[in-house]
Amino acid sequence: MSGPQPGMPGGFPGAPGAFAGPPQKKLDPDSIPSITQVIEDDKARLGGQVFSTNIRGQVPPLVTTDFTVHDQGNSSPRFIRCTTYSLPCTAELAKQCQVPLASIIKPFAKLPNNETPLYVVNHGETGPIRCNRCKAYMCPYMQFIDGGRRYQCSFCNCINEVPVFYFQHLDHMGRRVDFYERPELSLGSYEFDATLDYCKNNKPPNPPAYIFMIDVSYSNIKSGLVKLICDELKTLLEKLPREDGAEASAIKVGFVTYNKVLHFYNVKSALAQPQMMVVSDTAEMFVPLLDGFLVNYQDSRAVIYNLLDQIPDMFADTSESETVFAPVIQAGVEAFKAAECSGKLFIFHSSMPTAEAPGKLKNRDDKKLVSTDKEKTLFQPQKGVYEQLSKDCVAQGCCVDLFLFPSQYLDLATMADVPSHTGGSIHKYNNFQVETDGEHFLRDLRKDLQKSLGFDAVMRVRTSTGFRATDFFGAVYMNNTTDVEMAAVDCDKAVTVEFKHDDTLSEETGALIQCALLYTTIGGQRRLRIHNLSLNCTSQLSELYKCCETDSLINFFAKSAYRAILNQPVKNVSDILVNQTAHMLACYRKNCASPSAASQLILPDSMKVFPVYMNSLMKTAPLVGSTELSTDDRAHQRLSVMGMGVEDTQLQLYPRLIPLHDVDVSSEAVPAPVRCSEERLTDSGLFLLENGQSIFLWLGQASPPDLIQSLFNAPSLAHLQQGHMFTLPELDNPLSKKVRSIIGELLEKRPNSMKLQIVRQRDKPEMLFRQFLVEDKGLLGGTSYMDFLCYVHREIRQLLT
Ligand SMILES: [Zn+2]
Repeated sequence: MSGPQPGMPGGFPGAPGAFAGPPQKKLDPDSIPSITQVIEDDKARLGGQVFSTNIRGQVPPLVTTDFTVHDQGNSSPRFIRCTTYSLPCTAELAKQCQVPLASIIKPFAKLPNNETPLYVVNHGETGPIRCNRCKAYMCPYMQFIDGGRRYQCSFCNCINEVPVFYFQHLDHMGRRVDFYERPELSLGSYEFDATLDYCKNNKPPNPPAYIFMIDVSYSNIKSGLVKLICDELKTLLEKLPREDGAEASAIKVGFVTYNKVLHFYNVKSALAQPQMMVVSDTAEMFVPLLDGFLVNYQDSRAVIYNLLDQIPDMFADTSESETVFAPVIQAGVEAFKAAECSGKLFIFHSSMPTAEAPGKLKNRDDKKLVSTDKEKTLFQPQKGVYEQLSKDCVAQGCCVDLFLFPSQYLDLATMADVPSHTGGSIHKYNNFQVETDGEHFLRDLRKDLQKSLGFDAVMRVRTSTGFRATDFFGAVYMNNTTDVEMAAVDCDKAVTVEFKHDDTLSEETGALIQCALLYTTIGGQRRLRIHNLSLNCTSQLSELYKCCETDSLINFFAKSAYRAILNQPVKNVSDILVNQTAHMLACYRKNCASPSAASQLILPDSMKVFPVYMNSLMKTAPLVGSTELSTDDRAHQRLSVMGMGVEDTQLQLYPRLIPLHDVDVSSEAVPAPVRCSEERLTDSGLFLLENGQSIFLWLGQASPPDLIQSLFNAPSLAHLQQGHMFTLPELDNPLSKKVRSIIGELLEKRPNSMKLQIVRQRDKPEMLFRQFLVEDKGLLGGTSYMDFLCYVHREIRQLLT
């Protein structure tokens, strides 16, 4: 907002952490910057348009806007977004404004159908052409000179010879005449076929494998979960991802069940019946069979069907309630080692592993630690066995996806340590019941199994001189300071990369980023995926602020705060967040805004809703420090966010609240969301709230009976029974169809499934819903948006005097 803002009452009492007192004067909530308005404005301005990437440092439309990308030499914002598209020229300037310099890279981001998939370039036996000195890959920024015989690398300035096979004449502009025929010269994103030099042991990789590892202990059998998984796999395995144009998936599959011991299954196609082999010595895990364990699904379909039918019966009478966990992952790694392949483990697990075995855990939950200096230990994984397992998994390209079904604390921080270092996902279903959670879990499993992804990946981010990548945040493993290793990386996982200055950047040449990801495709091809982005550099702070992107900034702040709480008290981290917010905004006010009364809050246009997100971040479960939250839930949220891209953190921190009571049933459109505040709800209203993790249908206490009739086939709110609270019946009327189609679309679109919860105004479960109204005072602590803004304003004024 470059103009003056409505006056803010200053000097309102309260210290950090306790600034929830009432403002001196009641302000009109409509007068403070609104996220829904910013989103709608961007949609109106840029929605449905083409975003061409031919301009250096161009700020893209918001993640919430639908647009089409035309790659003209820079990577699509679907792959890379930045906190600012104009970097400060000097480290001093960066320090002065404290705006973090970071990119959020989602290397396998899904592209809409109307955008071209990445081209694959083959440079023959010698492999992709790279700069001799810095090893950057051929890209649109290389400058061809000397009649096309040599090229200068724009990353390190080294002059390289052009290999004979790659020589081409230059046109009168100094551009190669084959410019448009070569993706690596004209596009921001493309792939190279990798040669054997890029493969383990100089051997082409085998196709990856998926192993399904099902905990068959008492609670999973009793809840019906094991049967549910087995039944679903019969149809789901038909849908394993495959290469474009391939008839069948190349992915091999294998099956393990376990409790205190592990059962491996031979499902070789020649067998009439599957064969079970038991390993009870879990201390030295090995795989008892090689031939017949990892098979092609198409070939072994009959035996696998047979097995999936038998598993629930085999363990129907089990009384075993103890489980092992680390040996299960170890078994997966050993199986991939033996088969010389990478792949993914799908582990379905219910309880804390207390059986005598490596990685045995004990209950260390302690709510008394909340809000103390030792709170960080609740988020820290237990060292030792799991640390080593992560290392082994990454070395083998073994990604772990974990589906947890706990009825109590299970030390998620430790159990999810391996998934969160191997590009895996962590799903959790508390007190799982097939009737109410079955479909929700199956949606997750289906999404997870069908995701496009790369295996055994290592990512390297190169930059032009003057700055470099210094820190990485994601579901990744770092063995050294530059190579980002991921056992697998799927279309929803993003790595946030922070940059620092080495030297002065030039306004004239700008700054370049090249992200190179070496990986194995689902068909077993070794490839390099390259994303290039050119940014502007500036010595003007106003230019830097103008090119900031709030959604990316908040992604960076969320991940850095969630990492910081592993090592510092949560309170310190929150203080740092508030201070940095005030500092960034004060620096703008001091250096970029036109003079105005000190009582006016002035925010940069690109950051005018930054305080809402920041306040929401501080109220999230990991940072709020309430004993009412479960330790596992907090750890889960912390780890989930670490792998998120900009779209997901945006939605997580500012849910969509959609009014449905006056929806136009004849229109395709979804009603525009309203601000996440109780003030926007109406007693006679019907609202949908969704943040990518949770979804609620809220029913006002005075909801019109015809509306309740249309949706629930019940005469009034009072007639809704418990059974109504998780599903909408399929009724044949326009309103029911419309509401179900809106919910269905959201469930389809988001990376994870969400469990629909239907809540009546003033009922107890409404509390769950209310904690997502992020503009209001937090139920478990944390201030309202209005109060936060006033507090930040006061801090800014103090910084300026
Ligand atoms: Zn170079």
